[in-house]
Amino acid sequence: MPDAQPKMEEIVSLCKRRGFIFPSSEIYGGLNSSYDYGPLGSELKRSVKDYWWKSMTQAHTDIFGLDSAILMAPKIWKASGHLDNFTDPMIDCKSCKSRFRADHLPPDTTACPKCKEPTLTDARNFNLMFKTFMGPLEDQANTVFLRPETAQGIYVNYQNVLTTSRSKLPFGIAQIGKAFRNEITPGNFTFRTREFEQMEMQYFVKPGDDEKEISRWKDFRQTWYEKLNIQSDRLRFHEHKGNELAHYAKAAFDIEYNFPFGWSELEGIHNRTDFDLTRHQTHSGKNLQYFDEATKEKFIPYIIETSAGCDRAMLCILCDAYAQEEARTVLRFAPFIAPIQTAVLPLVRKDGLADMAANLTQALQKKFRVQMDTTASIGKRYRRQDEVGTPFCVTLDYETKENQTVTIRHRDSMQQERIAMDQVEAYLMPHLQMPLQ
Ligand code: ATP
Repeated sequence: MPDAQPKMEEIVSLCKRRGFIFPSSEIYGGLNSSYDYGPLGSELKRSVKDYWWKSMTQAHTDIFGLDSAILMAPKIWKASGHLDNFTDPMIDCKSCKSRFRADHLPPDTTACPKCKEPTLTDARNFNLMFKTFMGPLEDQANTVFLRPETAQGIYVNYQNVLTTSRSKLPFGIAQIGKAFRNEITPGNFTFRTREFEQMEMQYFVKPGDDEKEISRWKDFRQTWYEKLNIQSDRLRFHEHKGNELAHYAKAAFDIEYNFPFGWSELEGIHNRTDFDLTRHQTHSGKNLQYFDEATKEKFIPYIIETSAGCDRAMLCILCDAYAQEEARTVLRFAPFIAPIQTAVLPLVRKDGLADMAANLTQALQKKFRVQMDTTASIGKRYRRQDEVGTPFCVTLDYETKENQTVTIRHRDSMQQERIAMDQVEAYLMPHLQMPLQ
């Protein structure tokens, strides 16, 4: 039976209560749509990024990592088209002062969706890039931008990576990093924020190989979410057609997830053709052509991009893992990303059980993310671990003292089994180890 969709309030409340996500600057009243990842959230986010990195770079011999600067030469944003075109159409209501993205309203909307008055302004374009100044002078010549995507850092380093890695086409560059967009209507918790993290891979191919490659990467990326235990009936592709297709893209597919607020984009997979490198070649005056030794041809490579949002992946993982059962709330994370992978629980603190548990915790910590919990009844402790998605609880009781065995309790089935204490690590390893891809 598929789980019922959680309500967004349930997710937000659990995230706050258990230390996954806090509103930013909370003691000062918060900052609209900014969030901080707490102890469990930052651990989970780190695993999501590690898994992406492993699966998108380390699992391939032809994909290389990059960590480019957030502040880049402003000319890059002219070349990429962001200065002129990275805008959203904004509409205001003159009566209630609400603000909307025109493309999020039904066509022919005349009255304000909030106050119902016919007082909407015409749509006007608003550039989403954050500006700041480099150096002490706050003038036009010193204006720089916070990057609105990580991709441009990859394009401008394409030749550096190609030469230093001594690669040939096809090859890819992967990067994880912060991006900033001055969104008109942020919202739905961490789904749309003004500061967020992207996980992008740009794959450079010979023109003609692009269609085969986009189809390969679509499959690869879909599998990535499925390996994270995301229910496949809550994932789908949405193909951009007609007007929806960006001017530079030959094909575009969104991976969408059925969030509590409806189907929404998790990741974009695009065939960007030779648009980006051609623009950078023109604007920088540098030759960015690729020379194919085998055929002696020169050409600008095509680019297949997989562009995922880390915060959106996190929100999807949290929503998908959430289940409200009769007696408990449980987060069914894939065990390899669970923020706490194993809880070690001595039945009581006395009679040496806590010491034995501390030793076991220390040994397991070398391999896994482990927490020892000695407070409250064992039933309460199981519930507490269920609620933060801990896949295994190892309990030490009086029998442990007699014969060096422990019970292992499985989060999903709640079944328990007894095994030798010195076998715990070997038992857990295949369940908790992060797969390569
Ligand atoms: P949307 O249509 O939702 O604004 P987009 O099509 O502009 O997204 P892209 O430019 O393709 O998004 O960015 C790639 C990915 O970066 C998105 O699929 C999403 O996961 C993430 N992303 C983009 N904007 C935001 C944001 N404001 N907050 C969180 N994640 C974002």
